[in-house]
Amino acid sequence: MASKKTKKKATRVKKDVYFFGGGKADGSAGMKNLLGGKGANLAEMAGHPNLRIPVPPGFTITTEVCTYFYKNRGKYPAGLKEKVNAALKKVEAIMSKKFGDPEDPLLVSVRSGARQSMPGMMETVLNIGLTQKTIKGLIRQSGSERFAYDAYRRLITMYSDVVMEKAAGIEPAEGKGIRRQLEKLLEKKKEQKGVKLDTELDGKDLKELCDQYKKKIKQVLKKGFPDDAYKQLWGGIGAVFASWNGKRAIAYRRIENIPAEWGTAVNVQTMVFGNLGDNSATGVAFTRDPGNGDNKFYGEYLINAQGEDVVAGIRTPAPINKNSQSEHNENLVMLSQAMPKMYKQLFGIQKRLEKHYRDMQDIEFTIEDGKLFLLQTRTGKRNGPAAVKMAVDMVREGMINKKEAIKRVKPEQLDELLHPIVDPKGEKANRPLGKGLPAGPGGAKGMIVFDADTAVEWAKKGKKVILVREDTNPEDVEGMRAAQAILTARGGMTSHAALVARGWGKCCVVGCGDLDIDYGKRKVKAHGVALKEGDWLTLNGTKGLVYKGSLPMMDATKENVVLNKFLKICDSVRRMKIRTNADTPEDARRARDFGAEGIGLFRMEHMFYGEGAEKPLFKLRKMILSETPEERRAALKELYPYVKKDIKGTLEAMEGLPVTVRLLDPPLHEFVPHQEGQLRDLAKSLKIHMSELKKRVSLLKESNPMMGHRGVRLGVTYPGITEMSVRAILEAAAELVKAKKKVFPEIMIPVVGIDNELRDQEVVVRRILKEVLKKYKLKSLPVLVGTMIEIPRAALTADRISEVAEFFSFGTNDLTQMGFGFSRDDTGTFLPTYLEKKILPNDPFQTIDQDGIGQLIRCGIERGRKVRPKLKVGICGEHGGDPKSIAFCYKVGMDYVSCSPFRVPIARLAAAQAAIRE
Ligand code: ADP
Ligand code: MG
Ligand code: MG
Repeated sequence: MASKKTKKKATRVKKDVYFFGGGKADGSAGMKNLLGGKGANLAEMAGHPNLRIPVPPGFTITTEVCTYFYKNRGKYPAGLKEKVNAALKKVEAIMSKKFGDPEDPLLVSVRSGARQSMPGMMETVLNIGLTQKTIKGLIRQSGSERFAYDAYRRLITMYSDVVMEKAAGIEPAEGKGIRRQLEKLLEKKKEQKGVKLDTELDGKDLKELCDQYKKKIKQVLKKGFPDDAYKQLWGGIGAVFASWNGKRAIAYRRIENIPAEWGTAVNVQTMVFGNLGDNSATGVAFTRDPGNGDNKFYGEYLINAQGEDVVAGIRTPAPINKNSQSEHNENLVMLSQAMPKMYKQLFGIQKRLEKHYRDMQDIEFTIEDGKLFLLQTRTGKRNGPAAVKMAVDMVREGMINKKEAIKRVKPEQLDELLHPIVDPKGEKANRPLGKGLPAGPGGAKGMIVFDADTAVEWAKKGKKVILVREDTNPEDVEGMRAAQAILTARGGMTSHAALVARGWGKCCVVGCGDLDIDYGKRKVKAHGVALKEGDWLTLNGTKGLVYKGSLPMMDATKENVVLNKFLKICDSVRRMKIRTNADTPEDARRARDFGAEGIGLFRMEHMFYGEGAEKPLFKLRKMILSETPEERRAALKELYPYVKKDIKGTLEAMEGLPVTVRLLDPPLHEFVPHQEGQLRDLAKSLKIHMSELKKRVSLLKESNPMMGHRGVRLGVTYPGITEMSVRAILEAAAELVKAKKKVFPEIMIPVVGIDNELRDQEVVVRRILKEVLKKYKLKSLPVLVGTMIEIPRAALTADRISEVAEFFSFGTNDLTQMGFGFSRDDTGTFLPTYLEKKILPNDPFQTIDQDGIGQLIRCGIERGRKVRPKLKVGICGEHGGDPKSIAFCYKVGMDYVSCSPFRVPIARLAAAQAAIRE
């Protein structure tokens, strides 16, 4: 009995509620997991001795309470009510006001805040504590009926939407949500009064509006708006917890890989009012420009406004200073002019915050009747170019060290600096259809869609789309993700669309006022030009320009001084080499510009594709279709000069660096012609009858060409092919050496699974080497002979193979194909389902499957190096450009990774990060 009693009464030892305010705080910035990002930083700003920034007092209910709430079907832990009341008492003491007091009421906001910021995904309710009784006190205290009813109508709107509708699980039809319905009443009121702005409505109008709102709520939701401060408070708290499992939050978590177990915290905070008249304002700012990284304070604000007004795009926000001016807002009064004292104080605070956090901060501030308050600070989202610029600058400024700088940039973000832009020539030739704000850099083109669902649907079908909206809201995120770019008619640089696009590094233009969108007819008009869904648009997100049609793109990534500085910083800690996969001298040169330290894969058969390939391709076909050794020898002889020329050009372009040349690995079936004319030409050239040629073609047909007569198997059966290729490589090298060039060819034999295959070929290679040395009167050539490890058996018997091979290069595309038994070209039918059902966490052809294929790699390296400790090891599959896979390659001790030229900078960063993480 006794034990039962104690169990029942056991009070929770957890603190659950953390107070901040009056120069003190229970929490700190390090407690994000428990307090959420917002709560932890509010505590830091309020309580840290170096900061002591004016923050309205309040308290944070922890994420653990949220977890408890979900584990116990919406119940709070015992004692929470008491803890909340105690914290509220402290706030009341500081503010000398009482919550629910009809004379001088304290009002609070109830704000969500997870560990990681989820912009706009969860809910916030402002002005909680306003009731029929308390509003009279507020009117008396503020001396403004207009202000009080403005606050009240905002409370009613947010509360009915967040608490009474969303948290209650009501899912109204599109455009039928309670918020929209109330907004319509507001619009009607403005129309009746013949005004445009909310601020032009007076106290009487707003009071009437509040009454209409409440009636509407009763009518639609069948419930009255609660006229009790405490009811409102707990309604708000419950709704924030509930919003953690709202549809939008779940969708966002899935995209950002945020675990559901984290939960959100709830912040209850004293209201400060930016809507108290013309001496009040509210705004958002960044300590540096998040669009390009310049070390310039940047922000937007609105006079006489509250909360989300700046982000919501109801009025065009004004610039806080000169840095923040654009064509759209240059005629509006800057904060630095309108309230110079406030601006100066804000400027000082942002400097202090950045120094304290040692990173760019994204802040929210409110000015209440000439008094400045900070409401939020967090590390600001930034696009790739800005991330790189800030990292480089902050090292120079001595704010962070090199390692920190390297950690600050995500490898994928570099992609944005390497991304195509709209070709300036094309832009010159076309007049823009409209101009908005440059919210996400680079260029993009696609077909117009007007809603997120269509964007997702069309993108699934492989179409490129641009999502065109009045403005975006959190419900649109999946469509925004699927689109090439986002274009909105409203909103500023801190609007939802801009924030989200910036986070993803997506091309985005916002606030393009020239657009006249008609969702119903699925049409958009701009300066008399009408476009419909499916029509093409091109965006220049760096300048904010919109063009009709599909304009040419180009890459402008070569001469990027800041990027090069950043990559040099990366190189200073990186230990693994980065090579490139390149088959032509042009590709080789480009990769060198990007910092490649050699070629990890030169595919010989590549010269038979594309421009100028007809002649060598014809010779190759002849060789493939030869039957007698004489025929084949003759064909190879004709082919030889083409092969040699290509290799020589590439070796020369890569002077001083190693070049791995893979011997011919042609999928034979791909090279056999199908057209009668071509077949006839071949027959003629081989001096055989058409029927004979057709017979030979049919003999080449394999039922499983991927596992057919290819790679080393071809060399074993037709040593002449190996002879020709090796001779081409070595003679090209010998000629360059004679010309005093430093070249380092590495001969790579593909598709080896048995050590004896390699031994067989090595004999040929050594024999040709001897011949070439003699011919050019050279003592030696710096050449290595090695193999690709792409067959599981090769990985397992690597010790025997490395008796012959001087290097290994993991061909992880085929290794994955063979290891999984997945045909590389046919995964489309089942892999998406595998990923959806979480049977596999990633596409193994994109990111190395460390559990399985990774074991083959580890085993291959280990066994290979047991026999040959200095064995050079690299990777040349697609995975060589994938940051996660690069980290793995580093971990298992590879000497280099090789990737496509455009991925080289990304690989340099990923390899540097891997070295730091070690
Ligand atoms: P989000 O995470 O979506 O930014 P917030 O909790 O930051 O949501 O709140 C939304 C808006 O309301 C912000 O502009 C914020 O500055 C404002 N706000 C929140 N609490 C208060 C408060 N106590 N006083 C004044 N404004 C507030
Ligand atoms: Mg919000
Ligand atoms: Mg916020």
